[in-house]
Amino acid sequence: MKYETIIGLEIHAQLLTESKMFCACSTKFGAKPNTNICPVCTGQPGVLPVMNQKAIELAIKTALALNCKIEKSSVFARKNYFYPDLPKDFQISQYELPLATLGHLDIVVEGKKKRIGITRVHLEEDAGKLVHKGAARIMGATESLVDYNRTGVPLMEIVSEPDLRSPAEAKAFMETLQHLLQFIGVCDAKMEEGSLRCDANISLRPAGEQKFGTKTEVKNMNSFKAVFKALKAEEKRHEEVLSEGGKINQETRFFDDITEQTIGMRSKEYAHDYRYFPEPDLVPIEPSADWLAKIKNTSGELPEAKRDRFLNEYKLPEADAEVLLATPALTAYFEECLKLYDHPKTIANWLMGDLTAYLKTNNLAIEQINLTPAQLVEMLQMIDKGTISGKLAKTILVEALKSGKTIKDIVAEQGLTQISDEGEIKNIIDEVIEKNPKQVGEFRSGKDAVVMFLVGQVMKLSKGRAKPDAVQKLLRQKLGQ
Ligand SMILES: [Zn+2]
Repeated sequence: MKYETIIGLEIHAQLLTESKMFCACSTKFGAKPNTNICPVCTGQPGVLPVMNQKAIELAIKTALALNCKIEKSSVFARKNYFYPDLPKDFQISQYELPLATLGHLDIVVEGKKKRIGITRVHLEEDAGKLVHKGAARIMGATESLVDYNRTGVPLMEIVSEPDLRSPAEAKAFMETLQHLLQFIGVCDAKMEEGSLRCDANISLRPAGEQKFGTKTEVKNMNSFKAVFKALKAEEKRHEEVLSEGGKINQETRFFDDITEQTIGMRSKEYAHDYRYFPEPDLVPIEPSADWLAKIKNTSGELPEAKRDRFLNEYKLPEADAEVLLATPALTAYFEECLKLYDHPKTIANWLMGDLTAYLKTNNLAIEQINLTPAQLVEMLQMIDKGTISGKLAKTILVEALKSGKTIKDIVAEQGLTQISDEGEIKNIIDEVIEKNPKQVGEFRSGKDAVVMFLVGQVMKLSKGRAKPDAVQKLLRQKLGQ
């Protein structure tokens, strides 16, 4: 029997705020364990939470970018469960009345655009972190330590509709979402570092069937690759169980990235297990129209609109647009260059070619280099004016990236300007003719192609500073043709 795969994702994104969701503790990553804590985030009796306005703004900004409807009133709730990483024994989250609903995100898989529904976007606080000694997980560990630094860090949960039909679509969704979150600056969205996390609900149903099959929830996917592999493995498992007439248990499963299999953890909790009720210490979030408009204005142009502009206004090929939009920093660099130099394709070529090659070799990101867009543009203008050759510019660029010196200084120090003095070129040509009598003879006897060899020799002697066109012209004159 043929089955159809149904996948929905629940994504947790850490919001880029300085302080936690309900207290003033720092959210800084990497601090000594249990140093960014206070009575509020460790759940001491009598404390009261205070909402972090910045976190709400970032979540609204995201919801708007995801085309969601921002609810007039949303309410925090207590989600009760007992686990050592949760000092209050409840997590403040949003349940019945989330911040935003009914959005969508477009993804592209195998060249085809597909619209994926967003069920909701809501705010909550993160739990602490358990470190297990003696084993990678709690199973087999001799002791477990808890670090409450992460407790209370603002999280945004984004829930997709079960619109995804394959592990590849799920991966594409995560990548598109990561890109969007980074672009609007709400989350650094690094799956490997845990600032972007994802759980997936997956089920299979016979092709043509309308009713959903029983779903399982897959956890512990710490990279885009893991999302794909875990869902592939789980899809296969469902298919095997179902085709043998078996039944899928609704449960949470853990992806083991060593065996690349999913392992059953516990039967899935149902909402009633959490005994949700409205958080009595917090008022509802009721954003005014003015505030929403202000937040919307801070978003700037979204990646999709930028892409359209790169293709239609700048007439860039799709592959170029894709590379230039890969990271917000690269896009900003490109657009900064463009303000000073109105040749999009030339800039794109340099960014995608020599600059990217240098970054890759040295394992750098564009935000780590000293070369400013203005410097790069200065170099491009020197090529246009004929002050330096395009070929030498490649060397100059690398030198500027390495040394942090300005383009002008490098050109001046190393005498890299093109030779415009004909006399100087003629001297070099004389030298080349003298040194290569065989090739000169061949050329004179009618082997025209040899001229390129002689041009090459002149270029070599001039250290690339002569203009090849001028050299060829002068050479032909000199050799009487
Ligand atoms: Zn605190």
